[in-house]
Amino acid sequence: MQFSDPSDTICALSTPSGVGAISLIRLSGKKSLEIIGQVFSKDISKAVSHTAHFGKIKSDEDILDEVVVTVYLNPRSFTGEDMIEIACHGSRYVQAELLKLLLSKGARLATPGEFSLRAFLNGKMDLSQTEAVADLIHAGSKAAHKVAMNQMRGGFSKELNDLRQQLLNFASLVELELDFSQEDVEFADRTQLKKLIAEIDGRISKLADSFKLGNAIKNGVPVAIVGPPNAGKSTLLNALLNEEKAIVSDIAGTTRDVIEDTVIVDGIEFRFIDTAGIRETADRIELLGIERSFEQIKKASVILLLFDLTSENAIHIQTQIDNFRKNSVSDDQVLIPVLNKTDMVDTAKFESLKNGVFISAGKKLNLDQLKKNLLNSVQNHSLTDDQLIVTNVRHYEILKKCKEALSRIQEGMENDIPGDLLAMDIREIIYHLGEITGTISNDELLGNIFANFCIGK
Ligand code: GDP
Repeated sequence: MQFSDPSDTICALSTPSGVGAISLIRLSGKKSLEIIGQVFSKDISKAVSHTAHFGKIKSDEDILDEVVVTVYLNPRSFTGEDMIEIACHGSRYVQAELLKLLLSKGARLATPGEFSLRAFLNGKMDLSQTEAVADLIHAGSKAAHKVAMNQMRGGFSKELNDLRQQLLNFASLVELELDFSQEDVEFADRTQLKKLIAEIDGRISKLADSFKLGNAIKNGVPVAIVGPPNAGKSTLLNALLNEEKAIVSDIAGTTRDVIEDTVIVDGIEFRFIDTAGIRETADRIELLGIERSFEQIKKASVILLLFDLTSENAIHIQTQIDNFRKNSVSDDQVLIPVLNKTDMVDTAKFESLKNGVFISAGKKLNLDQLKKNLLNSVQNHSLTDDQLIVTNVRHYEILKKCKEALSRIQEGMENDIPGDLLAMDIREIIYHLGEITGTISNDELLGNIFANFCIGK
């Protein structure tokens, strides 16, 4: 991808089109002050940075709108360039006319994410922080917001830069040895290097492992409820959803449709997939062998496998769980056996099934425990304020590559591999970490990232 000219002055509407009482139009680039000077009733050419000015926008001799213009002078702005923010009225007509006016005075419409791209290129933020801005805008829950905010403020970047710096120091020492290769010297103490690599491996693994939770926070967790007919699947689903609806319908303005099939536990959204299909398919399931090829099972991260304790097949439940786990559950899925209708049986009889959750969907007994198990499927401790969590697939994929290189290093050191190979692997990790923060970047990578941003961001 070819980038648009960074010396252009760009403009865009940064709030949604046509809605709201007030809209914000942004200008960024060298000519921002000159362009606003041609259309604003007040002379702000000498304005101090971070000041707001009330006045009129004039198109020829007509007054288009009364606005507040805020001035940000480089480098103290979001993009690091001279920036103007115009707060105008939220009419589609005013927005369009004002943009047209700015274009006619020499600005160009910004491409998607171009303000953020400039912030990155001008060193205001690193790449992972810029990506966090996008996440922050889309954050729909408290947990998602907390994670995005932490990343935007640089917690994640700091950790990566720290790791990168340690590796850089070591790579230089190992490389120094290569320059003296005739003399058989060792500048990089291998015991110390092993310790460092183990520590870095621990920190990178922790980040990579946090992706499961990060992804759950950002995208929700797809859950499937499966089991033989009459196990109580529909009853359970309704019990979980009804509780939720009762809470949510108290909040004015929430649409029922949106929350129809989701349950939020501790800020994490669990989505029940293909819930309409539960009733339809129930009859087609064999009593003993639970149908394996449900599409919904494949799509789920968590599977609730439900059984009826009053059924005459209840004595075979453990075998059914084992078979199901063996045949239908992949490594990255979590299976939660759920044993229903505890109101009708003596649960002591089923003590051997202790890995399951005993509930009564009909009587709504022990559903809180089930919710806890759902939560545990994505996180095994609660979120702390400063916890670093990876939410971005791009970052996760890169961290996995780092882990592969780290394993090679660890294996290599056990076998006394030569320094030049060691240095290569260390350099590879340094390179990958730089890809996350953007120290290492190219137009294609940047193009891919920023193309997913919206215009005005
Ligand atoms: P599905 O075929 O798996 O969707 O099962 P249903 O949800 O339709 O439930 C089958 C039958 O079991 C219905 O008559 C429910 O009322 C009943 N049922 C569900 N949960 C319970 C429970 O916890 N206790 C009792 N006693 N009956 C239940």
